[in-house]
Amino acid sequence: MTDAVFENAKAVLARVEAAAQRAGHPVTLVAASKMNDAARVRLAFDAGVRAFGENRVQELEEKYAQGAYAGAALHFIGHLQKNKVKNVVGKADLIESVDSLELLELIGRRAQALGITQRVLLEVNIGREPSKTGAMPEAVPAMAAAAGSIAGIEVLGLMTIPPNTGDREKNIQYFVQTRNLFVDIRAKKYDNVTMSILSMGMSADYEDAIACGANMVRVGSAIFGQRHYT
Ligand SMILES: *Cc1c(COP(=O)(O)O)cnc(C)c1O
Repeated sequence: MTDAVFENAKAVLARVEAAAQRAGHPVTLVAASKMNDAARVRLAFDAGVRAFGENRVQELEEKYAQGAYAGAALHFIGHLQKNKVKNVVGKADLIESVDSLELLELIGRRAQALGITQRVLLEVNIGREPSKTGAMPEAVPAMAAAAGSIAGIEVLGLMTIPPNTGDREKNIQYFVQTRNLFVDIRAKKYDNVTMSILSMGMSADYEDAIACGANMVRVGSAIFGQRHYT
């Protein structure tokens, strides 16, 4: 499997590029590199991947210290606990998983202390799943509106992980719903909110997501192989 990372990453980059051409807009591939060590991250980098997403703060810090992401953008895509905000702000180029106003405020406060602007996405729980993170869809416009009065942050767009239904048509409906929410919020032109990034689509469905308007996809297993949870 290890040897396949370079070839897999090349193949996924080509498929993302083809889907982007069909959709008529550029798309950024973020390699979701959880549970893959720095050497494997570098294989994907060597294949041309220029953005990586991590879920766990400790793993991000370890691999960051090893230079795993040198020359690439680093995204935080996992659930961010309040007490870990200080470890991620300023290190991550984009925090994709902000799902409450409180978290947005904490990130803003930390960014101000560092004298930076932290770029973030708001994570939407588009399937309204109780077990999942992400803000309820109806709460997201108010979060975006409130971003105008929070210093230190810039909201670049939305991220979602739709329910794992195994039903392609249902999945596409969730992508369309998220795209519509994204377009509605963008039209409001809130301060600090550019709504330029729509992050949706993973290994099984990134081409559908791109066709539905995604311009950022997060792909793990199609690049790195199956993850082995212990
Ligand atoms: C792991 C992960 C992905 C990638 O999932 P795959 O199905 O392996 O492509 C995407 N987004 C998030 C938030 C993840 O945690």
